[in-house]
Amino acid sequence: MHLAFEEVDESFRHEVRTWLSENAPRGRRPRTLKGMREVDLAWQRQQYEAGWAGIAWPEEFGGRGLSLTQQLVWQEEYARTGLPPIDARFVGLNHAGPTLMARGNDAQRVRHLNEILRGDVVWCQGFSEPEAGSDLASLRTRGEIDGDELVVTGQKIWTSFAAVADWQELLVRTNPNVPKHKGLTWVICDMASSGIDVRPIRTMDRGEDFAEVFYDDVRIPLANVVGGIDRGWSVAMSTLSFERGTAFTVSQVQLPPASSDLSRWRGRESPSTGDGSSPMRRWPNASPGPAPTSPRFAPSRISTSRATHIRRSPARRGQCSSCKTPN
Ligand SMILES: Cc1cc2nc3c(=O)[nH]c(=O)nc-3n(C[C@H](O)[C@H](O)[C@H](O)COP(=O)(O)OP(=O)(O)OC[C@H]3O[C@@H](n4cnc5c(N)ncnc54)[C@H](O)[C@@H]3O)c2cc1C
Repeated sequence: MHLAFEEVDESFRHEVRTWLSENAPRGRRPRTLKGMREVDLAWQRQQYEAGWAGIAWPEEFGGRGLSLTQQLVWQEEYARTGLPPIDARFVGLNHAGPTLMARGNDAQRVRHLNEILRGDVVWCQGFSEPEAGSDLASLRTRGEIDGDELVVTGQKIWTSFAAVADWQELLVRTNPNVPKHKGLTWVICDMASSGIDVRPIRTMDRGEDFAEVFYDDVRIPLANVVGGIDRGWSVAMSTLSFERGTAFTVSQVQLPPASSDLSRWRGRESPSTGDGSSPMRRWPNASPGPAPTSPRFAPSRISTSRATHIRRSPARRGQCSSCKTPN
């Protein structure tokens, strides 16, 4: 199979490569969450000021509005530069922002979208629970309406960047008396609310991005509900659809070289990082990685190009919620 981009896309690649090589952050990526938050948001501000923020966001919401092919080119070049595939901005840019565009109201869009693009805030995702991972609809964190507020009690787990997040996309059970997919609500939670307790989880690669989040009578204005009370499952499916498409292209492209780095890494000093830390946590690579056109990228390139093609195809449009809304 021959994978080739059109000339116009290759010229766009050149523009992206030049900008990234001149502007991508250099130096060692911080190991602490606070440090990551600081550099990730500074990088977002830099992209915002240069007109590269929200490459997949429509222009009407302040984004760059790139075509799917251009997004793919951007992600490939981004991966090549050695920047991390997921950082503290991931949920805001790839989940919360697009969900508010597709399912939120005007007040919610005005309140949050520009703040995300400007790099002022970090969002996290409060979906998974100890007994509700793959089976997300089984979640038990309760949300009870009291006046014009939702009072939330329960626990989430695997919440990336919770300890440094300003906002959370939170999925709670508001009606226990209906089939489980029908009693959920998607709500914007202010992480500074009283009653929230964030407890970090240390992972075997020395990361501290994950946390458990406990809620004890946390009061959230009903105005923060997105898509309506008990209609959260449908909103959550919109959120998760934004992860498909191009959101993970950087990881796909970086995986083959990172795997070969890892196979050389035996817990001793790493050739890539020089400090014994996992190559998966480096940022940025001292030298550019292999060109995205190399055979090492072929499998991920084929699958993503195929997804991009399906999303562009008029015949398929309308069969999938993610085709109708931005990613
Ligand atoms: C890097 C990373 C970041 C994450 N960040 C977040 C976050 O920010 N917010 C958040 O809410 N969640 C987050 N998650 C959690 C992720 O969404 C969970 O891993 C997911 O919810 C799965 O839940 P679990 O780990 O409890 O696995 P389980 O649901 O217990 O599944 C364990 C295994 O059993 C398999 N399995 C489950 N059910 C069945 C079945 N019926 N039949 C056959 N096999 C089955 C699964 O495929 C899996 O292999 C993150 C996960 C990762 C890896």
